[in-house]
Amino acid sequence: MNGRFGIHGGQYVPESLMGALKELEEAYNFYKNDPTFNAELTALFNDYAGRPSRLYFAKKLTRELGGAKIYLKREDMNHTGAHKINNVLGQALLAKKMGKTHLIAETGAGQHGVASATAAALMDMECTVYMGQEDIERQALNVYKMELLGAKVVPVTSGTGTLKDAVSEAMCAWGRCVKDTHYCLGSSVGPHPFPMIVRDLQAVISKEIKAQILTAEGRLPDVVMACVGGGSNAIGTFYHFIDEPGVQLIGCEAAGRGVDTLETAATISTGGVGIFHGMKSYFCQNEDGQIAPVYSISAGLDYPGIGPEHAGLYDSGRAQYVPVTDDEAVEAFEYLSRMEGIIPAIESSHAVAHAMKIAPAMDKDKIIVITLSGRGDKDCAAIARYKGGKLYE
Ligand SMILES: *Cc1c(COP(=O)(O)O)cnc(C)c1O
Repeated sequence: MNGRFGIHGGQYVPESLMGALKELEEAYNFYKNDPTFNAELTALFNDYAGRPSRLYFAKKLTRELGGAKIYLKREDMNHTGAHKINNVLGQALLAKKMGKTHLIAETGAGQHGVASATAAALMDMECTVYMGQEDIERQALNVYKMELLGAKVVPVTSGTGTLKDAVSEAMCAWGRCVKDTHYCLGSSVGPHPFPMIVRDLQAVISKEIKAQILTAEGRLPDVVMACVGGGSNAIGTFYHFIDEPGVQLIGCEAAGRGVDTLETAATISTGGVGIFHGMKSYFCQNEDGQIAPVYSISAGLDYPGIGPEHAGLYDSGRAQYVPVTDDEAVEAFEYLSRMEGIIPAIESSHAVAHAMKIAPAMDKDKIIVITLSGRGDKDCAAIARYKGGKLYE
């Protein structure tokens, strides 16, 4: 069935939203094969976002770890500093073609809100961003950026006033204004067709990796890996390798203070099957099936679910998902900074941390590609505090 990944996915939404999802799916199915749309999208990717992003051989890191060769896919070099721009440029262009004049988006830490506000500014659209009250207070700089870019930030006070509540609120709001508005969802989650659209837009990552590694090494990598929040940079990293059985796919989840504590966001390791935000997938939940509060040092991975395509890849055994703690991610954040002069986002540091665990035991002729989903400038103050330092923003 359309939009299903094994038992996962689907469209578990109120009837009032079904029309909007259908309109979106039809428009997307048309434009994804439209040469003009694709030419415009490629121009935006290349001229505005700075694609293709580099595939960098981390020579020093490889030598120090003493095992597999490690390449870094540099999504941190994109305009606005992360992979999120790939998704918002595609969705904003699609919305524009559909005659929409307004984008709404949800945001947790503010990264997707800033990316959406950026695309809206570029394409001359209105933009409203739903953000939890709690997050608004924690992420003042990103609120300022969104407003600077011309977006309106709407505080969400329901639930815990964080990302999951912002998603629920944005979905509700979309139902009231679908006529002129597109909901620019920020990860490969939610009801069909969102997980498919976001995956297709982020699949540029694996498309480029494949071509770049063939040029550099003349063969495919043994492992590709990425951090997983909702799963968009990871599914983008996996996509063109799913049908290459020789390539191992590894998603790195945020374990927070550990998978045996309640302060975790490791969905596959600790969650169960459920239905939330319009999709069937794995979610962190209590025994009544209520969505559990999640925790990670990394705001971008602090989501209680995982995209349905990942849930399907996990069930089938095609991809593997591993937990990485705050402490391990912080160590990797510092290690990569010192080793390669590259400060990774704390989200991406989760993937670096797992590579640090597995690379030393692998043969020197094996190849690992890690997607660096974003840059770490935004995290420096928080990591300094975590380490007991005093750095004021
Ligand atoms: C938002 C974000 C993530 C997590 O989102 P996914 O949809 O799982 O990719 C990871 N890394 C960075 C830098 C982010 O901003």
